[in-house]
Amino acid sequence: MTMNVLGYAAQSAKADLAPYRFERRDPRPNDVVIEILYCGICHSDVHKVNNDFGNTHFPVVPGHEIVGRVVSRGSNVSRFSEGDLVGVGCIVDSCRACPECRTGREMFCEKGVTFSFDSLEQDGKTWTYGGYSTSMVVDEAYVLRIPKGLDPARAAPLMCAGITTYSPLHRFGCKADDEVAVVGLGGLGHLAVKLAASMGADVTVLSTSRGKEEDAARLGAKRFVATKVAGAVDALAGKFDLIVDTVSAPHDFNKQLTILRNFGTLVLVGLPPAPITLEPFVLLHGNRRIAGSNIGGIPETQEMLDYCGEHEVAADIELIKIQDINEAYERMLRNDVKYRFVIDIASLKE
Ligand code: NAP
Ligand code: ZN
Ligand code: ZN
Repeated sequence: MTMNVLGYAAQSAKADLAPYRFERRDPRPNDVVIEILYCGICHSDVHKVNNDFGNTHFPVVPGHEIVGRVVSRGSNVSRFSEGDLVGVGCIVDSCRACPECRTGREMFCEKGVTFSFDSLEQDGKTWTYGGYSTSMVVDEAYVLRIPKGLDPARAAPLMCAGITTYSPLHRFGCKADDEVAVVGLGGLGHLAVKLAASMGADVTVLSTSRGKEEDAARLGAKRFVATKVAGAVDALAGKFDLIVDTVSAPHDFNKQLTILRNFGTLVLVGLPPAPITLEPFVLLHGNRRIAGSNIGGIPETQEMLDYCGEHEVAADIELIKIQDINEAYERMLRNDVKYRFVIDIASLKE
């Protein structure tokens, strides 16, 4: 037995997304069935639809910033009840036995993590379909609680953009009065600004879009630097303890390294689909570090959600109908985001 579900899919690389029916598994004893209310649009969805990494399995139903309500639960489910507001992010299953799974870093599961879309289930053969759909079946161990007080639509982007920026800020010890730069003011970038500011850091936004200056201040940044202005970035030499680079397209990393303090860290969360060139001298000078950060595990995602509930951090969103998704993708590629598109799944009907 399976459940027939309506979603939106791309049938091939760069194709428009359009209605698509597919099957989800019948709930098992540890599963909850979630009626999806909202789903954020992450640039990773766009990379996947465009087959930027050359590994997309079509048809693809993207979506991994999911908020919904539990509508039924299997006999062994103990953490959730019907009616609970819940979230699902990038991870929906893993082996649960390897050292990474046991320490809550399921994204690095040694047997292979199951992502919420364009990924294989733990059976090694069933493809997953994401949150651009009306409902989802997920093992309760991979379901998150949405704290009371957070608006569900504005909480949806926390499921990926939130954890992806919270995790490196946390790991690299962001604290009061640190100088933190956020490169790229999009979905990830605007949450990085809000989160770093909530931790007390002095935040600088580095952006190619001059029109985002006022928004940067409203989001909590103390400074805005338009990176296309000649000399603007050079003037920041040696300033930052931490730089969070959220840029989705190829760009110059060497210039960015020069604006780190000695022992400072440039952490990459953006995924430009191209190799980078690194000048060793700029890294060695000042013992600078370059690091990567990949989403975050289930326990840290819950920690981030609870933190956001406490500190009233949520995304600034444009709520759209699913019929407007292809235009939203185009706007995203033009850096025209304010600052996360979220799909109102109530609009997904036949
Ligand atoms: P987004 O909303 O489209 O924001 C990306 C921003 O990057 C743009 O708004 C723009 O900001 C800047 N940008 C774009 N092209 C640029 C260029 N050529 N040069 C300089 N800056 C440029 O995307 P997002 O959803 O935040 O995702 C950002 C990246 O993170 C994507 O590559 C995505 O796949 C990746 N990602 C990684 C993880 C992870 O686990 N590490 C998780 C989620 C997403 P300005 O207008 O301010 O310049
Ligand atoms: Zn994402
Ligand atoms: Zn594992």
